[in-house]
This record gives sequence, structure tokens and C-alpha cells, in this order.
Amino acid sequence: MTVTTEHATTPATEEPKAADLFAKFAPLIRERDTLLETGVRDPFAIVMDEVKSPTEAVIDGKDTILLGTYNYMGMTFDPDVIAAGKEALEKFGAGTTGSRVLNGTYQGHKACEEALEEFYGMDHAMVFSTGYQANLGIVSTLAGKGDYVILDADSHASIYDGCFLGNADIVRFRHNNPENLEKRLAKLPPEAGKLVVLEGVYSMLGDIAPLDIMVPIAKKYGAMVLVDEAHSMGFFGEHGRGVAEAQGVMDQVDFIIGTFSKSVGTVGGFCVSNHPQTDFLRLVCRPYTFTASLPPSVVATATTSIRKLMYAGNKRAHLWENSKRLHKGLRNLGFTLATEEPESAILAVLLPDQEKAVRMWQALLEQGLYVNMARPPATPAGVYLLRCSLCAEHTAEQVEQILDMFEAAGKATGSIS
Ligand code: PMP
Repeated sequence: MTVTTEHATTPATEEPKAADLFAKFAPLIRERDTLLETGVRDPFAIVMDEVKSPTEAVIDGKDTILLGTYNYMGMTFDPDVIAAGKEALEKFGAGTTGSRVLNGTYQGHKACEEALEEFYGMDHAMVFSTGYQANLGIVSTLAGKGDYVILDADSHASIYDGCFLGNADIVRFRHNNPENLEKRLAKLPPEAGKLVVLEGVYSMLGDIAPLDIMVPIAKKYGAMVLVDEAHSMGFFGEHGRGVAEAQGVMDQVDFIIGTFSKSVGTVGGFCVSNHPQTDFLRLVCRPYTFTASLPPSVVATATTSIRKLMYAGNKRAHLWENSKRLHKGLRNLGFTLATEEPESAILAVLLPDQEKAVRMWQALLEQGLYVNMARPPATPAGVYLLRCSLCAEHTAEQVEQILDMFEAAGKATGSIS
């Protein structure tokens, strides 16, 4: 007998029990429990008790240097940024309580879009509530059923999720491999709609894309090109526009996606483009339309930060110095890094397995240094790493302190001899 009434509470005895929808996570839950039973801390459950500056926080009562944030340009505590946020909070209230296409576009959202247009030298900008939603929205809206998204295998989750939402056909090519990109493009029907999606900096290994080679290949096959500059905005190129600017291919890129949650120092996402129909996307892009817009204080902080980042040449230079100093120091200590040379503000220290990575991560935390522990699926299969992301506000002395902590933790855990 099958019980079909809506409110039935007693299932017939022969009926199978409702499946526990958590069952599919059982292997992961077991793996996590086994790891935590060894006495290590959960690297994904850190709480910042206090944040003192872009580079210092208190974790578990201990003063800790932050080397695992996306605060590349140190804008979170910039006095002008904070003042702009406070003023907008007072004047416009705590939130918009509405979608961008209804009551949720204030003059501050338009001012922020104008700042982005100026920052990138592009005709159109759309501000989203997060960078995740910007990728989700733009990729899914541009590439629908019957279209192709050609993407790097190591693309960010928000790009993959955009492909799933839009129902486009996904064609992956090998990470940062122009020949493989061309091989994939050559096999696609010439008349089909194609969107090639690239990232300026890949956030797990900290390596940069050869956009100067890949973008022209995409164009040769008639594809539109989207570049996610989440980890490069503010830092790369003369004006801080990203890797596309640094490599001289801005004019061939159709869409740039970015975020306010990294160099800009707050939260939010955006798309900039010269395509004349960009504004039309506001009406058909579900992750833009069906969610509340950013609070006025957030867009005000973003606008001020973006305008300051246009003239942040000194900060960019200091961040490069920090990246070079730390890369060289870690190599000299005997650590294995993901890139031969420092390519961005992210340096990934590779470790052989999860247990060694967590032990090293914990030893660093005990020394007073926070880095990101990263594992699959965030990283490529089988790759466990400690991600160090530098800030323009780290002093040279802090970088030396960081190296001393790596030396002590590396020796204590046997990661270096
Ligand atoms: N793109 C990339 C490459 C990212 O690394 C991230 C976030 N880590 C995002 C997009 C999403 O940004 P947000 O934090 O604004 O959602």
C-alpha cells in the first residue's frame, strides 16, 4: 500500500524509509571526523574576535598576522572609505530592501557604476550584490541552451555554476593551455554562440593567464570573451585594471567581471563592457533582478575605494615587493611553491597531503600567523596547499616575521628540515 495523502504521518510498513539526503556526504563527514580526531583544529571554523587593521587580528585571544585575506590593497580601514560608508548609512539608511530593477537603485549605485566605467575606461557597468552573482548572472544570461561556454578547467565555482544555470554546453580546456583552448574551439560548430571565460589570476595557485595569447585565439574563432579579474583588480596594469591591461588586450575583451570583496575592500560584484546592449542585461539577468541590491553604505565605500585605487601606484609597487620578498624567503627555507616566480599577490605553499597541510596550518596559527588552508574541490584534484595572500599594508618587517614563523612551523612539523 502506498500512502499518498499530503499529511500522512505513518508510512506503510513495506514502504522504503525516506532517504536521508545527507547520506551522500557520509564519506566527507567521515574524512573530516577522522582528521579532527587527531586533535587538529578545524581550518574552516576560524573566528576573528577582533580585527585591528588589514594585516592584524585577534584569533582565540592571540594577536595574529593576517596572510590569508583578499584585502590586497588594504582598503578595509582606509579613513576616506570608512567616512563615505558612515555618511551614506546616516543619509540613506541600512538597506534598500529591494531589487535593482524596482526600488533598489539609489543614486549611490549609479555613482558606483560611473566610478567603475571611469576606472576601466568602458561604456557600461552593472553592479551586483556579490562577485559570485556577477559571474552566475552574466555567464548564465549570455550563454543559454545551444551555446557553448569554453572555460579553463580550474575556473572558479561561480563560473561553473553560471554554466549550469544557463544550461549552456560546457567545454573545458587544460589550465592556462592556449594550444588546448584552440583545439577545443576548432571542434565547435562555426555558427554556434561561444563564450570563452578566462581569469586574470587563478586564486588557488596564484598563477596568471597568458591572456595576450588566449584572447586573440578566442577572437579568431568568433567567440566573445569574458575575463574574471577578481584577484587582479587594483594590482595589475598601469591603472590597476587587471591582467588584461597589463598584457595589452583590454580592447579585445568583451566583458570584465570583478568583485568588491578583494582589492576594493567591501562586498559586491560587477560587470563592465563596451557592448552597446549591456544595460539590457539588467532585465533578463536573474541573479541581478531577483535579489536585493547592496546597502547604500556598501556602495559608497566601494565607490570611494575604486576612485582611490585609480591612483594607487605606490601601493601596487609595495605589494609587488612584498610578494617577491616572501616568495624568495619561502623558497630559501625549502618550501615548494606553486609558481617558479611570484606572479601575483597569492603564493601557494604546496604540501603532500591533507594531514600535513592542516598540521602546518595549525603550527602557523599557534605562532600567530593566519593563512588559508585549501583542498579539493577548491584546488585541483590531489592538491593540498597553504595559500598566502599578501596585502599592500604588510610592512617589510612583517614579511620577515612571517618568514620566521614559517621556519619555526616548518621545522616543528617536519615540512622542512
Ligand atoms: N571570481 C573569483 C575568481 C573568485 O575567487 C571569487 C571569490 N573568491 C569570486 C569570483 C566571487 O567573489 P565574491 O566574493 O564577490 O562573491
